[in-house]
Amino acid sequence: MEKNELSFRYALEKKSPRLGQGGITRGASVNDFPASIGIAGVSMRLEPGGMRELHWHANAAEWGYVVTGSIRTTLIQPDGTASIDNFGPGDVWYFPRGFGHSLQATGDSECHFILIFDNGNFSEDHTFSVTDFIASVPPAIVAQNLGISEADVAKLPHKEAYFALGVNPDESSSVAAPRSWPELTSIHRYPLHAQQPRIIPGGGTQRVVTAKEFPISKTMTGSLVELQPGGLREMHWHPNADEWQYYLSGKAEMTVFLAEATAVTEQFEAGDVGYVPMGAGHYIKNTGTEVCRILIGFNNGNYEAIELSEWLAGNPEDVLITNFGIDAELAAKLPKAKLFIKPEKE
Ligand code: MN
Ligand code: MN
Repeated sequence: MEKNELSFRYALEKKSPRLGQGGITRGASVNDFPASIGIAGVSMRLEPGGMRELHWHANAAEWGYVVTGSIRTTLIQPDGTASIDNFGPGDVWYFPRGFGHSLQATGDSECHFILIFDNGNFSEDHTFSVTDFIASVPPAIVAQNLGISEADVAKLPHKEAYFALGVNPDESSSVAAPRSWPELTSIHRYPLHAQQPRIIPGGGTQRVVTAKEFPISKTMTGSLVELQPGGLREMHWHPNADEWQYYLSGKAEMTVFLAEATAVTEQFEAGDVGYVPMGAGHYIKNTGTEVCRILIGFNNGNYEAIELSEWLAGNPEDVLITNFGIDAELAAKLPKAKLFIKPEKE
């Protein structure tokens, strides 16, 4: 990639979507968004009763965040544990790589959610769907496997369904209950928005969910950052993870610093995706008049960040004086503790 072609912004919601019965989806893999080598993402909307069918992903874990509406998920894991969960706005799910799952919108309005995958080569189109699997195997095998006749096998879809539209599930009905449950647990749901955030008065807030709070989420961390107008998520980097951002609301500017005097500054708005490679320096500044809300995913279950303010504060003053060629008076003005988010005015 040429220096002048570098971009860490992708206008996801302006992409033409994949449409189906009951659903609409837009995805950004490394093919669409060349900078995003380590993480891919999807913005999906399901109408009530609309289903993203039973499927699995061979090369990525899935981290989901509900923006609006409500949704039911089902999950099967290799030890036979099945989970059925209901999610509302601000809730997070995590499905480990290869675990079978489905999604279905409930309630009376569209459900909008963001999916983040810990592999830039992930494509939501290249998923392993139950209908595709069954349609790709000789009918006699399917008949034997499911204990049904070949005439019944012929009634199943002959190609991938991907989306399906059905009855909006009524949680109290018997058909909404699992058909068998050797063990039924709820291990893949975390209510992120219900978490008490870190609050920087005048600057913004941050909520974080790592593998510590949400043990199943071994390979991913999620964060919800709100910046007040003028607020600056200070200059920092992440030693152990790439960063994938979805701008939920507001406007922001981000610079990604790649060493060797190379940096890219871009403007973001709601519906845009941003990306920061592991270790690259960056900041995010709210340049608008409204609160800027950013959903962030990292491809590591441990959250690590190094903040410029805290780094400088951790050095003796003489190091700063020599490093920057400044006098003691200016060195004394530099931050003496971690800022994290710096308000425009204090
Ligand atoms: Mn999935
Ligand atoms: Mn960051």
